[in-house]
Amino acid sequence: MKQLIPCRDCRRPILWTITEAGKRLAVDPDPDPAGNTAVRCDGTGAWRSRRPTADLPLTGWERLHKPHIATCPTRTEQLALPVGVTSLDAHRRKKRR
Ligand SMILES: [Zn+2]
Repeated sequence: MKQLIPCRDCRRPILWTITEAGKRLAVDPDPDPAGNTAVRCDGTGAWRSRRPTADLPLTGWERLHKPHIATCPTRTEQLALPVGVTSLDAHRRKKRR
């Protein structure tokens, strides 16, 4: 069961995960094959994320997601754009407000 919380910047639903380092990472709730973060639900219902590597590739119970920071329209203006995210999108959204 995914517990989604609206992003406080853009109000889109996001899924909070815990990284291997024990930090909180918000990802987009829908899996995206272009994402770079492997997300799975552990036995306690907590969502875990990690970066797949050549040694530890994606496993059958993990799905690729994009970190929300890569798609949040209010963040993409401040950060270098990751591959696959167009700045055009963020611009259009901003103009509409
Ligand atoms: Zn956001």
